[in-house]
Amino acid sequence: MQNTAAPTPTHCPYCALQCGMNLTPVEGGTVEVSERVDFPVNRGALCGKGRTAPAVLAPGARLTSPLVRSEEGVLVPAGWDEALDRIAGNLARTRARSGADALGVFGGGGLTNEKAYALGKFARVVLGTSQIDYNGRFCMSSAAAAGTKAFGLDRGLPFPLEDIPRTGCVILVGSNPAETMPPSLRYFTELRENGGTLIVVDPRRTRTAEQADLHLAPRPGTDLALALGMLHLIVAEGRVDEEYVEERTSGWEDARAAAMAHWPEYVERITGVSVPELREAVRLFCAPRAAMVLTARGPEQQAKGTDTVGAWINLCLATGRAGRPLSGYGCLTGQGNGQGGREHGQKADQLPGYRKLTDPAARRHVAGVWGVDPDSLPGPGRSAYELLDALGTDIRSLLVMGSNPVVSAPRAAHVEERLRSLDFLAVCDVVLSETAALADVVLPVTQWAEETGTTTNLEGRVLLRRRAITPPEGVRSDLEVLHELAGRLGVEKGFPTRPEEVFDELRRASAGGPADYSGIDYRRLAEENGVFWPCPAPTDEATEAANRHPGTPRLFLDRFATDDGRARFVPVTHRPSAEEPDDEYPVLLTTGRVVAQYQSGAQTRRVDELNAAAPGPFVELHPRLAARLGAAEGDPVAVVSRRGRAVAPARITPGIRPDTVFMPFHWPGEGRANTLTNPALDPTSRMPEFKVCAVRVEAVDAV
Ligand code: SF4
Repeated sequence: MQNTAAPTPTHCPYCALQCGMNLTPVEGGTVEVSERVDFPVNRGALCGKGRTAPAVLAPGARLTSPLVRSEEGVLVPAGWDEALDRIAGNLARTRARSGADALGVFGGGGLTNEKAYALGKFARVVLGTSQIDYNGRFCMSSAAAAGTKAFGLDRGLPFPLEDIPRTGCVILVGSNPAETMPPSLRYFTELRENGGTLIVVDPRRTRTAEQADLHLAPRPGTDLALALGMLHLIVAEGRVDEEYVEERTSGWEDARAAAMAHWPEYVERITGVSVPELREAVRLFCAPRAAMVLTARGPEQQAKGTDTVGAWINLCLATGRAGRPLSGYGCLTGQGNGQGGREHGQKADQLPGYRKLTDPAARRHVAGVWGVDPDSLPGPGRSAYELLDALGTDIRSLLVMGSNPVVSAPRAAHVEERLRSLDFLAVCDVVLSETAALADVVLPVTQWAEETGTTTNLEGRVLLRRRAITPPEGVRSDLEVLHELAGRLGVEKGFPTRPEEVFDELRRASAGGPADYSGIDYRRLAEENGVFWPCPAPTDEATEAANRHPGTPRLFLDRFATDDGRARFVPVTHRPSAEEPDDEYPVLLTTGRVVAQYQSGAQTRRVDELNAAAPGPFVELHPRLAARLGAAEGDPVAVVSRRGRAVAPARITPGIRPDTVFMPFHWPGEGRANTLTNPALDPTSRMPEFKVCAVRVEAVDAV
């Protein structure tokens, strides 16, 4: 029978592009995806992950009953009351025995704004714990820290994607949109069709790098030096925009002095990028009037990630690019709600509206909205890895919502051991992820097509995801879970289950803050196809459409968000990675993604079509390294770091540096890349060093 239901316009559940799509219910409790051309970001295009997302809605592919651990130690189905009682009872007992900070909460960058907001409020108001952070710390925290230092405000892209084809040159640093968000590639294709140039900085010749006018392949962990070398040349060749620097920035002299200490020949020795390549990059970047630098996880996921991003921002400032039309610095956020997820209070050091938890005025404002005493709000807690590392010692019980750290955290075997050592672990998830499988209680929750809520994409565009189908029997929303747990823990009010009601409270909590959502409501989101923050509510009573704030697609055109309106240069210098190669571990490992899997793979590994395209992990290595090992294509090879060993088939390509191997991180088990990665933390952002560590590579039969 033909389906005559009108399709529901909504957005993909996965990455930060938040592609628009239409959903039509079909038999079997799932939906059919069709093109949605009215959403400007993707204009109907979807990658394989988006097209196949409905597969995870099917009852057979996901959890539909709470699970509790039996006396025999196995997870068995249970009723909701039993499961919720067990969670609330254990949290209360831990708090009574060991104090509120013995309770941990670990959120996710895929949670909607409403859920991220409610989770932060739940941790601080109901549990009274400071120990909350989320997996977005592992995603873009270095870019957020560097952007805040330089501009006084962090919004992934301070301009819409539509500006990219109209600029003159883009430097993509450690970003591979061809694999991570394929529909965005058209922006870079159009840039080149319009006569602009694309420079890609990546140790691997990725599918994105293949399309570049210039591909620079620095040694992993040295892109800070690369940016300094370019800045050195910009100064030496007289390409600094002195007028802009004078009028719109501060701190140039120190940044200049730091760059001048990085001679191109010295930078060549550090990075492996030749001086002529450096000169060519400078020429291409400086030739047009407008240009951009866009970073992603490559420069950000380092123990010096904040400084590395800062070095690229300095390049934009010295050449007068930031805060000018069609120009500037931006971060391509990764997770679906990577932007909004960091703005509304699930981050260890922040309150909703991107307010600082240590700011007395921010505490007063948010406490007022929450109806609590500002002094009752805990202070900042541990960052994500530090929180996971404290499990089983200082932190005795943990609630996880929308995250799978067993696969996605650095030094993952240690994190898994820490999770096992907890007194109590509760996980809310759609599927029985590797982390959920360790839990004492698992709650099955609704997902994207089954619930309404907002996300904020990588451009800072707040979007409405709409419910298209009724969830199956047996699942509840995360908001219902928090409502029920709060009630059981003695807080009867303040945790509504209707997403719009939560959003309206979020708007009030964010009002006047850096990420001000107060002028945005569900009606506007539906009518306008998204609204860019900041979008304050009108200050007078006139709330007619004519008085609406239009939202802010482009930031910093008049002034930066610092006290004096000037952008800040931050003087940075090169330093080695936390682990450099030595005789025992002579090769560098870098990690990343493949197009057919998403993050820890908890959802996408359950989709047949995606598994057929990307069935498992691999070790990408250069033919010279493979020859030294005697490894042929497909042979299992072991990669060993100070933290453990992973085994996966060899994938041999001349497109990677001979001193480097690459592993994607989407899989658990023997080929888990994060078994190997280094949790050395950036001193500012607390980002672990996912992107570089020292390893040795062995033919498996030699082990
Ligand atoms: Fe979904 Fe990202 Fe793919 Fe778009 S690019 S369909 S948002 S996973």
